[in-house]
Amino acid sequence: MLLRLPTSVSEARGHLADGAVPVGGATLVWATWQRDGFPAQALSLRELPEANVLGREELGGAVVLHRIDERVPEVLRRAAGSVGTGAVRRAATVGGNIAGSSLRCLLPAALVLEARAKVLTADGVYETDFAEVLAKRPVLLSLRWRTPVASAYRKLPGEPGGPPPLVVASALHALGGDRYRLCVAVRDGYEVLSESTECGADPREPLRALRATPVGEVAAAWETVQSQVVELTGR
Ligand SMILES: Cc1cc2nc3c(=O)[nH]c(=O)nc-3n(C[C@H](O)[C@H](O)[C@H](O)COP(=O)(O)OP(=O)(O)OC[C@H]3O[C@@H](n4cnc5c(N)ncnc54)[C@H](O)[C@@H]3O)c2cc1C
Repeated sequence: MLLRLPTSVSEARGHLADGAVPVGGATLVWATWQRDGFPAQALSLRELPEANVLGREELGGAVVLHRIDERVPEVLRRAAGSVGTGAVRRAATVGGNIAGSSLRCLLPAALVLEARAKVLTADGVYETDFAEVLAKRPVLLSLRWRTPVASAYRKLPGEPGGPPPLVVASALHALGGDRYRLCVAVRDGYEVLSESTECGADPREPLRALRATPVGEVAAAWETVQSQVVELTGR
């Protein structure tokens, strides 16, 4: 297997056009490759500056989870900190988690931040939403978002060998005046539900609206949704 380490977007596009398969920290693909055989070429983004950004409003697809710190909003930092073990977080990347894993603990955080994805194909780089990232699984270069007023993330305890633990993520975005948009996402099993609603400082208004949506129907998550909404509107 040839490991391609492009240092420019045009080089990376060329490798993709030649059939190179994206790889992050190989925490998931290694076992599969050992079992089924290695691809002829793999494409790592770890030397590509565009995939290594880490700032208040951007995060590269090649950034390893343990590097994600207080520069990014709380919801994203806590999501990254909740993934697997320290050893997994030292190797696993943002792109591998969102585009390549089935649990995708970072996805609820990205959704409530209303993040946009910058993706790379053999034809070029473009910006898209996460529905397309999940459906088409292009190479994820980076995420971008606008800093929220406040955000929160909680992974509920799970049973060993049981279904994936529930995740509740939320973020409050300023709309101007004393109005806000509150975004909430719940990971229930392997599915991620997300909703948004307008609100002011009174938590009862968004809670009434959310209760009537699929997010409000996940009974085991509702108490956590309530406490996050009260906390965020209170801040
Ligand atoms: C012990 C253990 C515990 C775990 N616990 C959790 C958990 O609690 N929550 C959770 O969310 N996940 C969990 N995971 C999964 C973990 O998040 C993934 O292993 C990791 O995110 C995959 O990242 P990677 O960089 O190693 O991807 P790789 O193994 O390198 O690749 C995985 C897949 O993603 C694709 N890929 C890689 N980078 C990109 C990119 N930039 N763009 C598009 N596709 C790409 C690859 O082609 C491949 O199909 C756990 C994994 C292990 C081993």
